[in-house]
Amino acid sequence: MDALSSMANIAGYRAVIEAGSNFGRFFTGQVTAAGKVPPARVLVIGAGVAGLAAIGTATSLGAVTLAFDVRPEVAEQIESMGAEFVYLDFEDTQDSSATGGYAAPSSPEFREKQLAKFRELAPNVDIVISTALIPGRDAPVLWTADMVEAMKPGSVIVDLAAERGGNCELTVPEEKFVTDNGVTIVGYTDFPSRMAAQASTLYATNIRHMLSDLTPAKDGVVNHNMEDDVIRGATATHGGEITFPPPKPKTAAIAAAPKKDKPRELTVEEKRANEVTAFKKQTKDQIGLLAGGALVMLLIGAVAPESFMSHFIVFALACFVGFQVIWGVAHSLHTPLMAVTNAISGIVILGALLQIGSGNWLVVFLSFIAVLIASINIVGGFLVTRRMLAMFRKS
Ligand code: NAD
Repeated sequence: MDALSSMANIAGYRAVIEAGSNFGRFFTGQVTAAGKVPPARVLVIGAGVAGLAAIGTATSLGAVTLAFDVRPEVAEQIESMGAEFVYLDFEDTQDSSATGGYAAPSSPEFREKQLAKFRELAPNVDIVISTALIPGRDAPVLWTADMVEAMKPGSVIVDLAAERGGNCELTVPEEKFVTDNGVTIVGYTDFPSRMAAQASTLYATNIRHMLSDLTPAKDGVVNHNMEDDVIRGATATHGGEITFPPPKPKTAAIAAAPKKDKPRELTVEEKRANEVTAFKKQTKDQIGLLAGGALVMLLIGAVAPESFMSHFIVFALACFVGFQVIWGVAHSLHTPLMAVTNAISGIVILGALLQIGSGNWLVVFLSFIAVLIASINIVGGFLVTRRMLAMFRKS
């Protein structure tokens, strides 16, 4: 039944399309024979119904999308839609559960921080879609003339708050114009009408749901239930009485986001104590492992011949040292690690070549397998390393 949501959803979508038609570049980044195109950077101010629709549309077109809202609980919604939430370094954020899920005016200190952040972002964003509103008030001015000045030529601002004065200082309601530095500012106030077929379809469904609510028995007889929030809210007069304005809805638009406890910063002493405990545990594990290994060697040594034991000890130590060295390598360094394993494979091939001339068929067969597998490892290693290095090479 939420007609406002349906229309705000269309406005958010249409704002991105309107921005796209006034923006001279792709939204998505491309690398083609004709050159490299960086993705468009879109900033959405206000992530209510319209803002979230704009975020969804901009990200699906491939733009890098940033979004800001005074209500911190929308950060998760913004991030789940593929955009980046612009955080302010400010402790005292709003709890909108007291205002039915809507924003309240920000404090002057908060506003200053917000404007400073926007000033920093202005030269690096191509498209700004502003939707910030506070119920019953003029739209807050959040994109000032100097920010427009700082934007690159060809940038676009779509001000969905134009009807209530606009979030951009320069917006002219119902008009589109280009500033002296080449920034297009769109101040249309009729976005849902610009997608009339879609708006009518959604609005018709809203009205049909309202009729279903009014006639619960499905017999066409109106049951004017004043206990129903929707019917009560939409009623201006009833039974000869003026019932407007309606009381506030019983349920808030959204619940307050559960407060997340920030993990406590550890003191230097606590960090040191943690490190010492971790080191002690690691040392204990290693000594245990060595003692276990030594015991196994003793047991095998009791039965195996001496020549076997000297080779076996070297082999076991090589396994241990190799494991310890490779385990400690960070994932980002696995490419250089591959180069090392290539060297090891080279030694395997050398060893196998020395043995391949032996008269024993089993030795020849094993040497052949060793050469084959080590060669696959080396060739594959080089191919993968080349591809990975190519990713970091400038074209
Ligand atoms: P809105 O149109 O009143 O405002 C748009 C957004 O601007 C809001 O998210 C608000 O927090 C934000 N905003 C206000 N001041 C700002 C500032 N200084 N800087 C940055 N952002 C600022 O809001 P809305 O789209 O109607 O939605 C508000 C809440 O109500 C949402 O939780 C929404 O889910 C809920 N809701 C709205 C409707 C509706 O049709 N309007 C319907 C159902 C639920």
